[in-house]
Amino acid sequence: MDNEKDRKEKPLGGEKGKDGRSRSSRRRRGARHRHRKTRPEAADSPESQDRKQQSKANMIVLVDDDPAYVEMESLAVVHYLTGFNPMGFTQPSRALNYITNPRNASRIRLVLLDLEMPRVDGHTVQEILQILKQSRDIPVAIVSAHNTAENIERIQNLGAVGFLPKAFTMEVFVRFVKEVLRNGHLNGWQCAACGRLLTGDLVDMLTMRPIKCSSSGCGSSDIRQAFFGSQQDAADSGQS
Ligand SMILES: [Zn+2]
Repeated sequence: MDNEKDRKEKPLGGEKGKDGRSRSSRRRRGARHRHRKTRPEAADSPESQDRKQQSKANMIVLVDDDPAYVEMESLAVVHYLTGFNPMGFTQPSRALNYITNPRNASRIRLVLLDLEMPRVDGHTVQEILQILKQSRDIPVAIVSAHNTAENIERIQNLGAVGFLPKAFTMEVFVRFVKEVLRNGHLNGWQCAACGRLLTGDLVDMLTMRPIKCSSSGCGSSDIRQAFFGSQQDAADSGQS
């Protein structure tokens, strides 16, 4: 326990002094005594505590009008994405405020945006997309229930780094986000016949390419790769 405390407090030293950070360090000192209700299994693990203590710099912004998705995604980030912190929003306007705040811009590693959010208090997903398109530093991955050729093309044209069709499990979400964070983008396989992005399909183990489309009534074996993110970025990404 004592070792753990030492380890925890080290990074705080460097942060202190700037805009009243000492208050948070006092809070953190007591943090390990607090019960975290959302993480019953990991509550006592020093590893997970370290994860929590790590900088609030690596934010993953989760935007979805369905609170169940925001909650599931947040839990996934907390549990399975070491070193990253979730910031969830169910309202586009709030997300927009957060993303456009200059203090946050450099902290955001990824935005996961639900494409089908209703218009809430005057702000739309379109506005978020426009802002994100302008600041190419912030990668945005799209979540959408509409797995269609038209939507995939739209998502590609937005410069999104990946597309995760709804509905998805926490496991699928974690795999997706890890891949996007590691490579900067995630390409997919698309059925040329029906246009859907293929997820969780039976794959050819040699090529890692889906064998045929799993859509009911399709079953086409005409499968092509769908590229996301800028292709230059993809070519340049030897940085891992
Ligand atoms: Zn198909």
